Amino acid sequence: MSVSIDIKSLTFEELLSQFQAWDQPAYRASQLLEWLYVHRVASWDAMSNLPKALRDRLRHHYSHHVLELVRKQGSRDTTQKFLWKLSDQSLIESVLIPASPALYGEPSDRHTLCVSTQVGCAYGCKFCASGLDGWKRNLGVEEIIEQVMAVERWHAAEDPTRQNPQSKSDTTVPHADSSSPHATLPRLINNLVIMGMGEPLANYDNLMRALEILNAPWGGGIGARKMTISTSGLAPQIRKLADEPLQFRLAISLHGATDEVRSRIMPVNRKYPLHELTSACEFYQIKKGRMITLEYILIAGVNDSLDQVKPLAELAHRLNAKVNLIPYNNVDGLDWERPSEDVQERFAAALVNSKVTATLRREKGHDIDAACGQLRLKTEKERRQE
Ligand code: SAH
Ligand code: SF4
Repeated sequence: MSVSIDIKSLTFEELLSQFQAWDQPAYRASQLLEWLYVHRVASWDAMSNLPKALRDRLRHHYSHHVLELVRKQGSRDTTQKFLWKLSDQSLIESVLIPASPALYGEPSDRHTLCVSTQVGCAYGCKFCASGLDGWKRNLGVEEIIEQVMAVERWHAAEDPTRQNPQSKSDTTVPHADSSSPHATLPRLINNLVIMGMGEPLANYDNLMRALEILNAPWGGGIGARKMTISTSGLAPQIRKLADEPLQFRLAISLHGATDEVRSRIMPVNRKYPLHELTSACEFYQIKKGRMITLEYILIAGVNDSLDQVKPLAELAHRLNAKVNLIPYNNVDGLDWERPSEDVQERFAAALVNSKVTATLRREKGHDIDAACGQLRLKTEKERRQE
């Protein structure tokens, strides 16, 4: 992590006041933001319409870190997984998922990016690869934002024609300042799921600032309704999230509908048991008027028996939530397994019979270690063996 503030962690207002202090006209701040969020340049020197003296001053005051791609799995038009190296050599993952009606947004979504928020995870859910090596640190604001920019930078480099505006239906990124001519570029990613490595609500302030910048018209231009935050259930932070001005979607990693089952696989349930979690979710749901999604991984012999259906349906009804059933992705070194398709389908059907809106997700990218933390774990192991 760098000592100086990174340029991508600043808001437009902060940048403007810095530029004012430097006697720079406001349009220079807009030009800078356009280089960062429309052209996604990787260096100060690429910002060719900024005077050299200003570029030098910026370089002196701020860092401008970009993620380094160390490994990529998957092919174009399928789920692709990116392993990034940060400036302190830590590794994080992002997953790019092409449009799918069954995912979090609408079918018209172009691409969803699954974003990490921490290096490792402190919550130690028993089935998850991200927590296996423990928690190392929070990601900085710019490291969260950079995952979007770095994937788009990589995508544009793969096919330079994508640098140009395409059809009218493309999501476009408006220019930072309405008094300037509008430069637009198609934004590849228009849907974010904060479901990569780490517990997002344990890195609350950095995440909120990153999402604010990714949402801002002068920044990422991605709608807050297209951002889904997934949490293992930090009840106090869920209440705090209900007071945020932006309308994020909320997904709860439930995975157990009784305290007995949930505590067995998710230690966080001992701190915030189901009654606390559900009352925080109710608060969120009432305050925001938004539907919550309950994530439920089906793990063979752990939470897939039909006696979990009733308590799960009760919870879903109480929270007016839909349920996303996800067949467990096997993790190297862990003994948990996904149930047979028969069992998965029986569980889903029983939920639907109980009048719950439920989908059974055919996990995309099962073959490329798409579940969070797995590619990093594999690479860390290989590094240790070298
Ligand atoms: N820490 C947050 C967000 C990251 S985990 C959370 O727990 O919600 C994103 C999702 O992936 C969670 O629902 C998590 O339970 C799930 N997950 C973790 N390991 C998995 C695996 N091996 N197979 C399927 N889903 C997994
Ligand atoms: Fe952390 Fe989420 Fe994995 Fe649990 S499921 S260990 S909270 S990343």
